[in-house]
Amino acid sequence: MKQKIITKRGEKTVNLSPRRAIRRNCQMCSDYLWEEVESCQTVECELHAFRSGSGSEKNLNSEERMKAIQRYCRDRCCGGDEKQYRSCDMETCPLFIYRQRNIQNNETDKSG
Ligand code: SF4
Ligand code: SF4
Repeated sequence: MKQKIITKRGEKTVNLSPRRAIRRNCQMCSDYLWEEVESCQTVECELHAFRSGSGSEKNLNSEERMKAIQRYCRDRCCGGDEKQYRSCDMETCPLFIYRQRNIQNNETDKSG
């Protein structure tokens, strides 16, 4: 999915899979220094296992990746505040489109 994000060189529209969205988010978190992402010691971060863009080495699947994005958005970024999580309007955040998808999926699950 295409999304406008902030990169080291300014705004850019990029194609983001969930893997790439996490990589981009981790790069932003690490001041765009890839070495910092690789050596990140924040093991309690919900995205830690996925930060390299894979996660496959630990047998983590795409569903777990989406759940990690949900927890990261709601619990880490929004401090567990469901209302803030749902109303986030940070459209240039690399995780934004998948935050929306998680919310839509949860609503579909509830109504089904
Ligand atoms: S795993 Fe978490 S703390 Fe580490 S770089 Fe990614 S977002 Fe930042
Ligand atoms: S999409 Fe919103 S809630 Fe999720 S990490 Fe980005 S700014 Fe935070």
